[in-house]
Amino acid sequence: MRIAMIGTGYVGLVSGACFADFGHRVTCVDKDAAKIDGLNAGKMPIWEPGLEALVKSNAERGRLTFTTDLPSAVESAEAVFIAVGTPARRGDGHADLTYVFDAVREVAKVIKPGTVVVTKSTVPVGTGDKIEQILREEGVSEVSVASNPEFLREGAAIADFKHPDRIVVGAEEDHAQDVLREIYRPLFLNRAPILITGRRTAELTKYAANAFLAVKISFINEIADLCEVVDADVQDVARGIGLDNRIGPKFLHAGPGYGGSCFPKDTLALLKTADDAGVDQRIVRTTVAVNDERKEQLVERVERALGGSVSGKRVAVLGLAFKPNTDDMREAPSIPLVKGLVERGAKVSAFDPVAAEQAEKILSGVEFANDAYAAADGADALVIVTEWDEFRALDLERIASSLQGKVLVDLRNVYDPDEAEEAGLVYFGIGRGRIQAS
Ligand code: NAD
Repeated sequence: MRIAMIGTGYVGLVSGACFADFGHRVTCVDKDAAKIDGLNAGKMPIWEPGLEALVKSNAERGRLTFTTDLPSAVESAEAVFIAVGTPARRGDGHADLTYVFDAVREVAKVIKPGTVVVTKSTVPVGTGDKIEQILREEGVSEVSVASNPEFLREGAAIADFKHPDRIVVGAEEDHAQDVLREIYRPLFLNRAPILITGRRTAELTKYAANAFLAVKISFINEIADLCEVVDADVQDVARGIGLDNRIGPKFLHAGPGYGGSCFPKDTLALLKTADDAGVDQRIVRTTVAVNDERKEQLVERVERALGGSVSGKRVAVLGLAFKPNTDDMREAPSIPLVKGLVERGAKVSAFDPVAAEQAEKILSGVEFANDAYAAADGADALVIVTEWDEFRALDLERIASSLQGKVLVDLRNVYDPDEAEEAGLVYFGIGRGRIQAS
């Protein structure tokens, strides 16, 4: 299959590289010339495990190319994927579809009859209908529009793409279904479930999936808050409920609240869709509020651990990316935490294995250290914000001797409280009955 991938960001690049690896001929298009020049020189625009090698091997085989020239990619394609960003619109939080519709208008100028346009971007219900309308207005006929939402997780993107729990295809027309079945054939042969649905259903499925995961996270976070007051351990509660097959163990890790490029914007977009449809989604609405509040209140956790104030204190922050194995800082819980600490008079030293460069663009007044121990040196408290693997095996005695104040605030419950205390630290986790109101 000849595929044009419009938008070479996280999703477009990973999807394009994986489709090429399946044996398809993929041209990834982006209007960001620096990104394309970099890719043509073998430089990845994002940090994602395994991506560089996958891109390199498929580019060398001539199956994966990068260009800013959209017409040349679209003209010869049998399927055109739209993988541009759909950020939250300022003001009402709805998905901003400007990039999607602009891309469709450009595609419309050159697309050939028989081609399938596929939205991989996360788009609200009815976007496929609007794309069809734009194509009609531009005089395009005999082109099908399908929805194929992407469920990959940053940090595990390639494995997720190649071994998905399911592939969702929303397409009414047989031709579009056949083309997408052919594109995903290697996964189909691997018995990955392919769910063929109506286009609107596929569009909504993506939002429902992300909203449900956000609900699960906020649920366990609220249970964690209760654990802190009634002296119970949320880790054991999560295990106790997660072993129930009806609940499942995943997304039950209490922590600082969810961030990232998807959950915050997708929950807001779902609420806007629901508002427009006149059907309130109270559970999701509350989840958004619970999560926003949680992230804003992280600084108060550190204040409590430091006896009521961070003013004049030195706080070391480990992990800035919104989750491990990525340099993505979008909506990361570290942002309100670090800003709050600085605003309340703390000196902040921070370390992240890969996200420092991105973080520097967002966070001011922070000293960036070269490793966890350097960040901890002379600090009053150490706060673990992102659970990178390398933070799971710190030499706690060395940390305790580097720290001035001996306080460990473990927002990811990485450490065993007893072990941390044996190493000489005063431990504050999440939902472990230890943080008391000061
Ligand atoms: P991104 O911001 O990393 O990349 C989008 C790219 O599209 C940018 O490089 C931009 O320059 C390019 N672009 C915009 N308009 C263009 C045009 N007209 N022509 C060519 N290129 C254009 O975004 P992302 O994180 O890859 O997300 C893309 C979509 O996938 C979003 O809808 C997102 O919600 C969804 N999604 C993201 C993830 C994730 O983990 N990041 C997972 C699943 C779904």
